Amino acid sequence: MVKSVDGPVFKKIAEATTLLNTDAYVIGGFVRDLLLNRASKDLDIVTSGDGIEIATKTAELLKVKKVSVFKTYGTAMFMYNDWQVEFVGARKESYNTDSRNPLVFPGTIKDDQNRRDFTINAMAISLRKNDFGALIDPFHGVDDLNNKVIRTPLDPDITFTDDPLRMMRAIRFATQLKFQILPETLDAITRNASRINIITKERISEELNKIIMTEKPSIGFYLLDQTGLLGLIFPVFTNLKGAEYVNGKGHKDNFKHTLEVLDRIAPNTDNLWLRWAALLHDIAKPVTRRFDPLSGWTFHGHEFKGMKMIPSIFSELRLPLNEKMKYVQKMVLLHLRPIVLSEDVVTDSAVRRLLIDAGDDIDDLMTLCEADITSKNHAKVLRYMSNFEVVRTKLKEIEAKDNLRNWQPPVSGEIIMEVFALEPCRQVGVIKTAIREAILEGTIHNNFEEAFQLMLSEGSKLGLTVVKQHLK
Ligand code: ATP
Repeated sequence: MVKSVDGPVFKKIAEATTLLNTDAYVIGGFVRDLLLNRASKDLDIVTSGDGIEIATKTAELLKVKKVSVFKTYGTAMFMYNDWQVEFVGARKESYNTDSRNPLVFPGTIKDDQNRRDFTINAMAISLRKNDFGALIDPFHGVDDLNNKVIRTPLDPDITFTDDPLRMMRAIRFATQLKFQILPETLDAITRNASRINIITKERISEELNKIIMTEKPSIGFYLLDQTGLLGLIFPVFTNLKGAEYVNGKGHKDNFKHTLEVLDRIAPNTDNLWLRWAALLHDIAKPVTRRFDPLSGWTFHGHEFKGMKMIPSIFSELRLPLNEKMKYVQKMVLLHLRPIVLSEDVVTDSAVRRLLIDAGDDIDDLMTLCEADITSKNHAKVLRYMSNFEVVRTKLKEIEAKDNLRNWQPPVSGEIIMEVFALEPCRQVGVIKTAIREAILEGTIHNNFEEAFQLMLSEGSKLGLTVVKQHLK
């Protein structure tokens, strides 16, 4: 008996196997995580009998009412408290070369283990009454867990040509678990990398996102790069690689820098999109790079150009083209602002401008900027960090005072038009800008009365006549 599989779900499955005179095993990720002491409530159960039948019987014994049955696939699943339990008949697979969808036949538990991707994912625990809890580990997955190794159960070339998504999965597991991919396995990934083109972009991005969400995503990115996968799935990102030299002057390698930023932001956020912003913050550096004999390397406008590149990157990777993308664009566009601001005297007006532009995302932006400080110069890092502290404090002070987050002009365009009996025209814009600037500069406060007075005086400067005096 390995680590215990205890609790009502397992007991009732065991009872069901006796009643139906069949077998059942918990298999795959749950077993791996159990042995790694990573609790999971996601169960995959295989049986050499009928998956639907055993699911229905177990549900009955557990008094679970709702069982979702997928007849075509011979699978069934139910929820029991927060356990998600999926049942399937054991199967054998046969692949052809241009699809990752195999032909599937009923098989034994051994067949089912053979079709698993890695030895650590191929272990099963019996839930039959007579050998309840016995570990079935034909490929020595336990040894690989102990040695922290990712290895395919069968010839890796076959495993990866059959289903090239497994190459991404290998790298994802290596990153999540901080395991080594066995050299032969890694070589096979490199050899078969081009097969990734039969995998849908959605599946690839799903794995990429899982890598991004790990504790140290750079592990995965370096492996993706080393095996050639990165250049195939995300070529614009590999353009960041390397440093060019002119007159002996180089710039930093933006590939390494970006991955360092991603690793540095990871402990501070579980927001996938903020992590994407870290990954893309310098994406336009290769296309904006110039060498100026006086000032050296420059990347003018890379934040703006980067923001513009994001829709095509998201679309290519089948990432959502919605407010999540807009958020990433905003972070990329603004990523230099707190740094620029902290390099100078931190004025109230600059802080107000930043608050208005970043809105509710200001804290995320600060988190990104702090992660972006990767200089090897310790004194420089300390200086930046302490300047950021000043910016953060100022942000709090000004926010409390001026209430500028998600700012709306206190006097709207409609009011301006009503007071001066105007149609939409240039003057309305001029007055609105004057009000906004005055608030940002601190010459008036962010309230209706002061903004209204300013509107009147700006209107008179423009030669406008007040038609309605008392508006609120
Ligand atoms: P996680 O839940 O962290 O994604 P997991 O291993 O549970 O990890 P699933 O995708 O749910 O991942 O897969 C469950 C099990 O199915 C795996 O442990 C493995 O045995 C098997 N499996 C999943 N995908 C593949 C694949 N592409 N090729 C072979 N076996 C696979």
